[in-house]
Amino acid sequence: MRIVVKVGTSTLAHSTGCLNIRHIEELCKVLSDIKNAGHEIILVSSGAIGMGMGKLSLKEKPQDMPTKQAAAAVGQCELMYAYDKLFSEYNHTVAQILLTGLDLEDPTRYHNIKNTMNRLLELGVLPIINENDTVNTDEISVGDNDTLGAIVTVSMHADLLVLLSDIDGLYTADPHKDKDARLLSEITDITPEIEALGGKSGSSLGTGGMATKLSAAKRCVMRGADVVIANGSSPAVLYDIIDGKKVGTRFLAKKG
Ligand code: GLU
Repeated sequence: MRIVVKVGTSTLAHSTGCLNIRHIEELCKVLSDIKNAGHEIILVSSGAIGMGMGKLSLKEKPQDMPTKQAAAAVGQCELMYAYDKLFSEYNHTVAQILLTGLDLEDPTRYHNIKNTMNRLLELGVLPIINENDTVNTDEISVGDNDTLGAIVTVSMHADLLVLLSDIDGLYTADPHKDKDARLLSEITDITPEIEALGGKSGSSLGTGGMATKLSAAKRCVMRGADVVIANGSSPAVLYDIIDGKKVGTRFLAKKG
C-alpha cells in the first residue's frame, strides 16, 4: 500500500512547543517497521511553527507573519533533525519537501514535485512534506496540513490517508462538553450533517481542526483513497489501521 500519514503539531510537541520525544520516537519506529513490511510511506508533518516557538521561548503561537515565519524557519530544522536522527536508527533515509500553494497550482512545478516524489519512493526514501511557511504569504498558502495531506494523497495516488491528531476521531458532539458524544467509526457518505459535526476549533499550537479534516476526507474518498482520523498519542494504532481494524473514524473510498 502507498500510505500518506499526516501528523499534527499537537502530537509532535508538548503544549510548551518543545518536542514530545515519546510520540516522535514511537512514530518513527512504527513507520520504519511499516516500511520494512513493504509499504510506501509519505509523511506530512506539521510542527515547524510549534517547535520554533519552543526553541525561541515564545509564550504563545505568533500571530504576525515575520515571527511566524521566523519560528517556522527555526522549528523546521529541529523537526528534520529529529526525523533524520530517529529514522536513521532504523536505517531509513528521509527527504525534506517544502511546498507552497503556488507550487501545487503551477502545472510545471506540480509535475516536477510528483516526479521527484516518485523517484524518492523508488529509491526507498521516506519523503517528509510540510508547507514552506517561511516564504508563504496568505495568498499562496495551502493553509493547513490536513489539506496538504489530501492534495498529496490524491496526486500521488495513495491508497490511504491517516490524519493523526489529539482527538480519537469524529464524534456526534464535542466529547469535552457532551458526555453522550459517540465516536463514529465508519463513514460511507460525507453528508451535510456529517460536515456540520466539523465545527471550527483547532489546538493552541496547530492550525487545522475537524473541519479541515472533513474536507480533506471528502477530497480523498472521491478519488479512491480511504481516510482515517485517529489519535496520534499511540502511533502503534497505524498497524491496526493498515489491517483495516476499527480505529478512530474511517471514511470509506468511493468505488468505481
Ligand atoms: N505548517 C505548519 C507548521 O509546520 C502547520 C500547519 C498545520 O498544522 O496544519 O507549523
